[in-house]
Amino acid sequence: MVRVLVSGACGRMGQAVVKAVMEDTELELVGAVDLKGGMDAGELVGMGRNGVIVATDLSQAIQDTKPEVMVDFTRPDVVFNDACTALKLGVSPVIGTTGLSAEARAEIASLAEKHHTPAFIAPNFAIGAVLMMLMSQQAAKYMPNVEIIELHHDQKLDAPSGTALQTAEMIREVRKSMKQGHPDEKEKVAGARGAEVDGMHIHSVRLPGYVAHQEVIFGGLGQTLTIRHDSINRESFMPGVVLACKKVKGLEGLVIGLDKLL
Ligand code: NAD
Repeated sequence: MVRVLVSGACGRMGQAVVKAVMEDTELELVGAVDLKGGMDAGELVGMGRNGVIVATDLSQAIQDTKPEVMVDFTRPDVVFNDACTALKLGVSPVIGTTGLSAEARAEIASLAEKHHTPAFIAPNFAIGAVLMMLMSQQAAKYMPNVEIIELHHDQKLDAPSGTALQTAEMIREVRKSMKQGHPDEKEKVAGARGAEVDGMHIHSVRLPGYVAHQEVIFGGLGQTLTIRHDSINRESFMPGVVLACKKVKGLEGLVIGLDKLL
């Protein structure tokens, strides 16, 4: 049994993870942390009392409950400190929270090496989203003109999404750097063409009703190709999170991307 602590346990993703860990026969929920502590984690997710009381201090909770893995679904401004705390105490972080900078990832990688404690980050834990990214990378070799539209619920704090940035990064690996659109194009309203990563434009939609969705649109002579993925609910991420909890201890250093575990 892998001993798991969930940070951000009261959030939308955190609650789904608490439930998924409790339901898996190879994982044991030993700890839960959130700003809103005090309640029983099992009761919180409607699975009945399990004796794991949500704590508010991560470092203390790790020392009290001795997890092997910490799953983090908190906030972009919290996740880095959580990961550092976990690694310094020899606990492997499985990070779903998006918004970590390249510098923060590099620091996490170096702490993972220093403390001989593997760490894992997935910008998206849904298998369909991983396939969307791999297929997009493949398509970009032949159709290099591409724009990304990502659509999320309106409570999301970071934009563009981690998935959109990861997709752009994967496409950047296989196509020559290029400027897209007309060389003289001008935005009449700032932001009309979206954000730009290595010439690719990324557009972020935030509306109630969405969960997590992305379209990668390729344009060529007389044709377009659209690759789209939709997470219809948060259960879509759980098989990936559960897999990462089981595999992280066997990794070396920091590993990024669910595709590396499949
Ligand atoms: P949410 O706002 O519903 O939940 C965040 C939780 O973190 C809240 O309960 C909040 O109280 C708690 N929190 C805040 N500060 C904390 C702290 N210092 N210590 C402990 N807990 C703290 O957000 P959400 O929709 O569950 O999303 C969480 C993160 O997961 C976001 O960054 C989102 O983009 C990301 N996400 C990633 C994936 C993926 O597949 N990688 C999928 C969905 C969402």
